[in-house]
Amino acid sequence: MSLRMGGYCPRQPVKFMNTKNIVLTGKLLLAAVTVCAVAALPAQAQAASKKVLVVTVTKGFRHSSIPTAEKILAQLGQTTSAFTVEYARVEPTDPQFKGADGKPDKAKVDAAIKTILAEKMSPAALKQYDAVIFANTTGDLPLPDNQAFLDWIKSGKGFVGMHSATDTFHGFQPYIEMIGGEFKTHGAQVEVSAINQDQECPACRHLPANWKVFDEIYQFKNFDRTKVHGLLTLDKHPNDKTPGDYPISWCKRYGGGQLAPTPPNGATLLIQKDWHKAPGRVFYTSLGHREDVWDPAWPDRKNPKEVAEAYQAHILGGIKWALGLTQCCPKALKCPAR
Ligand SMILES: [Zn+2]
Repeated sequence: MSLRMGGYCPRQPVKFMNTKNIVLTGKLLLAAVTVCAVAALPAQAQAASKKVLVVTVTKGFRHSSIPTAEKILAQLGQTTSAFTVEYARVEPTDPQFKGADGKPDKAKVDAAIKTILAEKMSPAALKQYDAVIFANTTGDLPLPDNQAFLDWIKSGKGFVGMHSATDTFHGFQPYIEMIGGEFKTHGAQVEVSAINQDQECPACRHLPANWKVFDEIYQFKNFDRTKVHGLLTLDKHPNDKTPGDYPISWCKRYGGGQLAPTPPNGATLLIQKDWHKAPGRVFYTSLGHREDVWDPAWPDRKNPKEVAEAYQAHILGGIKWALGLTQCCPKALKCPAR
């Protein structure tokens, strides 16, 4: 029996066995498994220790960029060795969900969504992950236990949301409070010049002071600037250019003592001083509608490939921060994301 490095484990067919051969073969197999396990150790030791669940199920609008997002998130984990990904995904166009009319059977799709979320997001299953990413989820997802999911983040885990993660759980206000804003509306896709609010945070430090990106730009309700650490924003409406505060990306701590409502006069700091005690980490970017924002190799594009490369670095910085692998705010700041 030969053994190659790199975890190669030979399988030898057993054509005939008597009792003696079964015992002997069993010993050989055990030895082979043991040696294979040892041989595979170096590779495993180099592998990422952080585990991320990527959720792309949708109960509302389904973005065509979801398969691209799934691919890019796995690539980011692989190329950086920072994390591995598992998925909670249901692709409605998969042949297994095809109904009699040739279209996706909604009942079958909904049942599959419920099943995969029960499997991957039960309180017991969540324990194996360090962060959960909602990549273009929509609607009220049938989690096995909504509050247990939020409690899991509060316990010191990471949550990352892209684009329509804020168009998710409109019917569950504590989720909106966790993510920090709720999708209100959007206009036509447009090029904006996003203001880089933190040129030291790993999600933004590679970006210029004003970063041009062409995408569908969200507007929010239930957003409180004092409860987040701003990363990207606009100082004017993305489409009609009316002056104002139009946030694009932010991060925040979650849990601990920051859940009190913003007081009406001057007491904001009393809340903010406790931000750093909140163990959960939340990163959100509203960018990520278009495939060419995610993928530099996407053929039909409005954004130069450099924009997609910058977007990948943006979300990678956010993911690594949410995983506790990097810091964002300087320690001197009483910041919602420290
Ligand atoms: Zn969109």
